[in-house]
Amino acid sequence: MSLVIVGTVAFDELITPFGKSGKIVGGSATYASLSASNFVGETKIVSIVGEDFPEEQLQKFKEKGIKTEGIEIVKEGKTFFWKGEYHNDMNSRDTLDTQLNVLADFNPALPEDCKEAEFLMLGNLTPAVQMSVLKQMNKRPKLVILDTMNFWMDIAMAELKEVLKEIDVLTINDEEARQLSGEYSLVKAAAKIFEMGPKYLIIKKGEHGALLFSKDEVFFAPALPLEEVFDPTGAGDSFAGGFIGYLAKTRDISFDNMKRAVINGSAMASFCVEKFGIQRIEGIQDAELKERLRQFISLSQFDM
Ligand code: AMP
Repeated sequence: MSLVIVGTVAFDELITPFGKSGKIVGGSATYASLSASNFVGETKIVSIVGEDFPEEQLQKFKEKGIKTEGIEIVKEGKTFFWKGEYHNDMNSRDTLDTQLNVLADFNPALPEDCKEAEFLMLGNLTPAVQMSVLKQMNKRPKLVILDTMNFWMDIAMAELKEVLKEIDVLTINDEEARQLSGEYSLVKAAAKIFEMGPKYLIIKKGEHGALLFSKDEVFFAPALPLEEVFDPTGAGDSFAGGFIGYLAKTRDISFDNMKRAVINGSAMASFCVEKFGIQRIEGIQDAELKERLRQFISLSQFDM
């Protein structure tokens, strides 16, 4: 098994109804790899940061079995920065600032061992970089997942459509599925998106769960009703990291196993939102994960 996650390693600044985070560590690859590390012994990140990125965080990645050789550190460069503010329902947010900084000129050169990955997550990042990573692989990975967002649909739709032709699973939220397909119905959106290349589609619906589509099956995973939702940032990436981490651990990419992967991803997302930033996703114990999976099963099990 080998898992490579490409994405942002970033600084975030978050405003939620519960408070302001100040400048903290975030990024799509950060959340996804911390989440995946609960399933696999070794995850490799491919990303870029500036010299301002804290060495302690890179050390923390290593302690979790996350290899950082693929994170380029640009001398005197500034790390990608994102600032967002959540609305009162915590389901929607506004991006207040996106500073690409070192990401603007990122041209990844994959370490040799990353080129052999069997499981590849092209996390939220510029589609051109996602494509460049895919092209550098020595062989087609067993499974390629791509996560993206409206930001890239707005400024790089053509490149995004090119990379969609090459992947297996696309994870996006409901609004992004509508934007990408031009369809309001998510069932019609899925059909249009399958014509673009992906074989599976996961539509994330925040506190309303997630839908997994193949061309002829659909599965719905609820989100766990939580007492505390503190900060939804990174929930989507934690979901995707849990999903691919579980698949990489079990090495089974059947639709039935993808259902279990979706539940594991949903469990990781439910942890993520309980605290600001990566605080919660950094320290999950096996017993807690088991208990949460049990809650997911009992949430939607019933006799007829
Ligand atoms: P999520 O809440 O799962 O959508 O992910 C939030 C994370 O995505 C934050 O930690 C940000 O640093 C990162 N992020 C925000 N905007 C972008 C972007 N345009 N490209 C890549 N990563 C981003």
